[in-house]
Amino acid sequence: MTHIYNFSAGPAVLPHAVLAQAAAEMLDWQGSGMSVMEMSHRGPEFIAIYQQAVADLRELLTVPDNYRILFMQGGGLAENAIVPMNLLGRAAGPATIDFVHTGSWSGKSVREAARYATVNVAASAEQSGFAGVPPQQSWRLTPGAAYLHVCTNETIDGVEFDFVPTIQGDTPLVADMSSHILSRVIDVSKYGVIFGGAQKNIGPAGLTVVIVRDDLLGHALPICPSAFDWKIVADNDSMYNTPPTYAIYIAGLVFAHLKKLGGVAAIEALNIEKARLLYAALDADDFYVNRVVPANRSRMNVPFFLRDEARNTEFLAGATARGLLQLKGHKSVGGMRASIYNAMPIEGVQALVDYLNDFAGRSHR
Ligand SMILES: *Cc1c(COP(=O)(O)O)cnc(C)c1O
Repeated sequence: MTHIYNFSAGPAVLPHAVLAQAAAEMLDWQGSGMSVMEMSHRGPEFIAIYQQAVADLRELLTVPDNYRILFMQGGGLAENAIVPMNLLGRAAGPATIDFVHTGSWSGKSVREAARYATVNVAASAEQSGFAGVPPQQSWRLTPGAAYLHVCTNETIDGVEFDFVPTIQGDTPLVADMSSHILSRVIDVSKYGVIFGGAQKNIGPAGLTVVIVRDDLLGHALPICPSAFDWKIVADNDSMYNTPPTYAIYIAGLVFAHLKKLGGVAAIEALNIEKARLLYAALDADDFYVNRVVPANRSRMNVPFFLRDEARNTEFLAGATARGLLQLKGHKSVGGMRASIYNAMPIEGVQALVDYLNDFAGRSHR
């Protein structure tokens, strides 16, 4: 069989070693006689799995002691409502939430938050067709805003922040990092809240990771469901309701795998090299097009178009024949998209680059 490389945007490729270990442990986890799926979330076996996963994630991202790591459900889209429901209680009166609109996902965040408060789009890249992050000097921030929300990697548009926004006063910075968490070194202390669905760069769908600063707990609106109140979740070690146990187990295996590879700095260096290879092939001549400004080109999600879009079907069929799967672009933008998350080996990127060159009729260099 041809070697398969899976470029799905999510749910997405997982490290082969992790899937192999999960398969080996499927029926009997470490001599317990049980599959992880069959364990009580309150039993000693699963508690050990959970504690190791939290400790490894804390180590990988150097999460400071005054931050809590929560394992929730509902995905990135649910957090778009859970965030305002948890933070708006800090405001004395009517609150405004600031947003930077850099693509599809931040756009959805704006529309959801508008159900709970006044929203201010402090800057938008819509005019440019989401070709980059508007420079912070151009943002019109609200003094005393309840929080500032950014999506630091726009999965559909392929736009990634190349700076950490500076905030005013005690306005917390909230970041949706669903599609690039653990792909690069970050300074958690610059953020009030970081969240991400697991199915892009961490593990299976069903788990949402939330990292929240202590002082932002305990301000939920009365309408906030208890299972989504960060303070209740934190006070119960993410076990107020039954957590997605199997997804947490797989995420834990991914964290351990990343540590073995040398941690986030090591995987970041690889990600830089993978992205460099792929964008260089797209830029080699005008056969392919990527419209994002170089400084904001995502290292994880690489959307591109054929100059001659009449050949899209032929391109995708040829890719599939070579084992290069799920390259079709998101339906809202069309074209192609290659997601090259942590678990995509550089050999997969090289195989895609070879195909891009062959399809464009370029001689091999
Ligand atoms: C995928 C994604 C989401 C939505 O995640 P769900 O798990 O489907 O709710 C939100 N934000 C970003 C940046 C994403 O990539």
